Amino acid sequence: MLWEEGEKDVPHNSAAMNELPVWEALSIPSRSRLYHMMPIGIGTAYVESATGYSSRLAAAHSVTLAVLFGYEIAPLLNKNYLRNGEARSNKNAVLANSFRTLAPAVDGFGVIAESYIDALHKLTMRDDLRYLTMLPWRGAISYRHLIRLKRAWCPACYEEWDCSGEPIYEPLIWSLAVVTICDRHRRRLSSRCHSCKRELQHLASRARPGYCHLCKAWLGRSAIFAQEKLPAGEELERQSWACNQVNDLLKSAPTVSSLPQSSTLASSISRSIRSSAFKDELAFARKSGIPQSTVNDLCRGNSVPQLSTLLKIAFFARVSITDLVIGRIPEISESPVLSKPDSPQPKAVKAATPHHRWNDKKLFEIRRSFEELLEIRPPLPMIQIKNRLNYPASTLSSKFPDLHQKAVAGYREYIKNRRQAFWRRVRKKLKTQMESGTPLSVSEVAREIGRSRTAVVKRFPTLCMHLSEHWLKRREEHWGRVRTFLQDALLNDPPLHLKAIAKQLKLSHTSLYKRFPQICYEIAARYALHLRQIRILKKDSLRSEVKGIATALCEQGIYPSVRKVSQQISKPVSLRSSKVALESLREVRHERGLVLKA
Ligand SMILES: [Zn+2]
Ligand SMILES: [Zn+2]
Repeated sequence: MLWEEGEKDVPHNSAAMNELPVWEALSIPSRSRLYHMMPIGIGTAYVESATGYSSRLAAAHSVTLAVLFGYEIAPLLNKNYLRNGEARSNKNAVLANSFRTLAPAVDGFGVIAESYIDALHKLTMRDDLRYLTMLPWRGAISYRHLIRLKRAWCPACYEEWDCSGEPIYEPLIWSLAVVTICDRHRRRLSSRCHSCKRELQHLASRARPGYCHLCKAWLGRSAIFAQEKLPAGEELERQSWACNQVNDLLKSAPTVSSLPQSSTLASSISRSIRSSAFKDELAFARKSGIPQSTVNDLCRGNSVPQLSTLLKIAFFARVSITDLVIGRIPEISESPVLSKPDSPQPKAVKAATPHHRWNDKKLFEIRRSFEELLEIRPPLPMIQIKNRLNYPASTLSSKFPDLHQKAVAGYREYIKNRRQAFWRRVRKKLKTQMESGTPLSVSEVAREIGRSRTAVVKRFPTLCMHLSEHWLKRREEHWGRVRTFLQDALLNDPPLHLKAIAKQLKLSHTSLYKRFPQICYEIAARYALHLRQIRILKKDSLRSEVKGIATALCEQGIYPSVRKVSQQISKPVSLRSSKVALESLREVRHERGLVLKA
């Protein structure tokens, strides 16, 4: 019936068929093997790192990084050491075994980074992944001491992203060895997990952004972080200046069309030194503390500087490192009025930033964009507004105090509400546990929500106290039931092995031993005795069977040889290797006087 109905719509005669449009072969764009996941923050100072992107990609596919690497990435890296027998047999272990020491290089610009990005490009079909590494700056910076060997992170950043519901990721800037502070929070980067006190690797097998891969602790605890000694005064100024420079460098990566040339860099350095207050290389080397030979080599293009050296040169020559690398240093004749060499250095940064000329039209435009950004929900933090408008926060607050105040207050209010909602959820969770027959402990609840036990107890002292009592009571009841079960097991017939009993209880036998040693020893002893008895019974039955067969053979006038007896034995035993069987046979022969005399 259905077919008949459908038939009305299907033209059958050939004339109608000719009227149908001719379908040309559709070209279906090829699909990526893995999720075409967008990297975070390209074109900003907080662009994601390739290592961090990999762990987010693994999480998006609900596999560990070890699996993603072993099965998908490693085969595309085209390296012999990733294709040996061991790597083929245990793909999950390739990352931890063969690639572990190379992992930091992924965020750099060497061969490893290049082939890794190439592999990710093949898998995700994304063309923008090279900006997640230092690849755009190859040729202008030395690879030495560029990437730090262990992970570093800003707990306050993690906490802020978590509270505002933004994705948790690992910015590339945290991978650079020269960066030691977070300039957004003016705090030192952490390099050890606050919970297990260990250093964390790049590309760990079970890496997950924002978490310790060793103990699974949440790393965004700015409260713990606040207790650390913070940099101050000149050090902080210097660090934050370096941070700003690196920020600009990372920000401009997508705008650089070709790889920087070492010759361009050499002439930039040379020009900037000559146009600085020091005029010549010797004076510059003395003042900056860079060895004179290094300065000479750099000016002649014989070597490329480490990022830290490049920062020093930029600092003392009062230029930006991005200008040095791209070659935007003007010729000496065009250089502006020189400042005195002994004036305080950090001001040099301000001299390097472009000077804005304000007019009403421009102010109106910025105000309008600012107001548009204020409409966005959830509200943006000032740091993001500042980045999007591309003006320093101080400028925005002085030019638009009303909007600035509104932005700050709005975001503060939003964060406050989010926090309150979060803790309301925690309270509900604690209350649910109170009603449960198998409740979680306060520590377990704290672990699940990613906060410390102390933080939870501090916020809900009474509720936590009641939950602890409830949990202890339920725990006692639980162990009471286990005890009864074990005591009943002592009466089992046949007796069971302790491991089998533990399996029935869904507990480990070691935990049973720890809690009920006496009963466990009794169960084990009873089981051993049972095994002994079985062995004795088996021996007896074998002995009597062999004797019976041998006697019957003798009575038939046949010699009871091992072979003859073996043919008639009911069990598949090798008589020659059984001491009991041979003994029994010997006894029968002895009784019948069949023993050969030596
Ligand atoms: Zn931070
Ligand atoms: Zn840890």
